[in-house]
Amino acid sequence: MRTYDLVIAGAGAAGLIGAGTAAEKGLKVLLLEKMEKPARKIRISGKGRCNITNTKQHDDFLSHVYPDSRFLNPALRNFSNFKTIEFFNSLGLPTVVERGERVFPKSGKAWDVAECLVKWAKKSGVEIMCNAKVKSLNIENSKIKSVNVDFGYSEKTVEAKYFLIATGGMSYPLTGSTGDGYNFARQAGHSITDLHPSLVPLKIKNHNAQLNRLQLKNISLSLYVDGKYVDDEFGETEFNQTGMTGALALRLSRKAVGALIKKKHVELVLDLKPALSYEQLEKRIKREMETTMTNHALLRKLLPMQIIDTFAKKANIKLQNQISNTDIENISKSLKNMSFEICGFNDFNEAIITAGGISLTEIDSKTMKSKLIDNLYFAGEIINLDANTGGYNLQIAFSTARLAAQNIAIRLEKDL
Ligand SMILES: Cc1cc2nc3c(=O)[nH]c(=O)nc-3n(C[C@H](O)[C@H](O)[C@H](O)COP(=O)(O)OP(=O)(O)OC[C@H]3O[C@@H](n4cnc5c(N)ncnc54)[C@H](O)[C@@H]3O)c2cc1C
Repeated sequence: MRTYDLVIAGAGAAGLIGAGTAAEKGLKVLLLEKMEKPARKIRISGKGRCNITNTKQHDDFLSHVYPDSRFLNPALRNFSNFKTIEFFNSLGLPTVVERGERVFPKSGKAWDVAECLVKWAKKSGVEIMCNAKVKSLNIENSKIKSVNVDFGYSEKTVEAKYFLIATGGMSYPLTGSTGDGYNFARQAGHSITDLHPSLVPLKIKNHNAQLNRLQLKNISLSLYVDGKYVDDEFGETEFNQTGMTGALALRLSRKAVGALIKKKHVELVLDLKPALSYEQLEKRIKREMETTMTNHALLRKLLPMQIIDTFAKKANIKLQNQISNTDIENISKSLKNMSFEICGFNDFNEAIITAGGISLTEIDSKTMKSKLIDNLYFAGEIINLDANTGGYNLQIAFSTARLAAQNIAIRLEKDL
């Protein structure tokens, strides 16, 4: 097998951008993907529409990145969200900006984003091999000499001057992201922080399955840990069979999961009428009482049918009773403060992202180079970086991979 300038493990968002960037600069690049097709995760991202990135300004963008957004600063400056948009547009993929400054392909198809990247990488000269699973690294004199690859029919060793690990995290393992890269990093002496699912549905204690699939719009959701307010979000949420999912719950899940792991008491509190103050709500209810007699009839005017039983239990009111002054108080309070105890979170199979990864202190943020092994680089979700929903996570993959590939190209040129 020929010797490559650069071998990349993982043909996801990071691997593809890294490979294409290096090949455009004249490097001989081999991109190894263990699945039968590259970029399976991109193809299902954004509910099949792929939220490629967003149009947030630099500092605003970084404020959505965890656990230390300063690490991303050089990579994002080098290949910003705006450059990403230009990049896709230049490849013939028009984009649109939607609510929340989120950027999608104009076609509305995540598949087009994946295909566009694969086509560009191939055209730039990248050799892409699918059904090629990297199994381990061969390290000699503090350098990676080669990788052992399982091609299904046989195992081979592939040599290269530089290696980029872009095998992603552990979420949605059916897409191929099963955490293999953490073992390669460990082999190279790197430490991996605790890994847990993030942007993940949260489980409600004694959940009423009647709420399954109920969507609530224009509501506000607050997170409380050990009785203390932590954060809130405004927008849409949705219930599933075991708890809460949807944009707001997912966004709050990072902090909720962290607290649950520490065995803290976690609550999500819904404000079902965020546009109205408590006093305004009371007034509105009193107005409704002119034509409405029972609590049930009143709640029918204020809430979706599906949530009425659960609401009545939490507000401690009897649905068939005539509305009393105490009921008005309880209903108003509960509309502004409907609390759900959170008892757990779903696993990696249903998490959008993995929180945790290769320790940031062991990677040079200006190049994405390992601080332990001179010819080893990392990019994408495998690094201990994660972010909110809204196109941030793909941008992290694009920016870190672009920076790594550019740095490898510069070093190769110097070596010659
Ligand atoms: C359902 C879902 C929807 C999402 N939607 C969005 C969205 O709209 N916008 C957004 O910004 N983010 C979204 N994300 C997150 C985003 O997709 C990821 O953060 C991003 O894809 C990470 O890119 P990556 O290249 O680091 O890893 P991945 O995309 O996971 O790619 C890693 C690749 O490496 C391959 N691989 C793994 N191990 C090996 C091995 N041993 N040998 C060879 N290959 C290997 C895998 O098969 C995979 O193809 C979504 C995630 C999910 C799960």
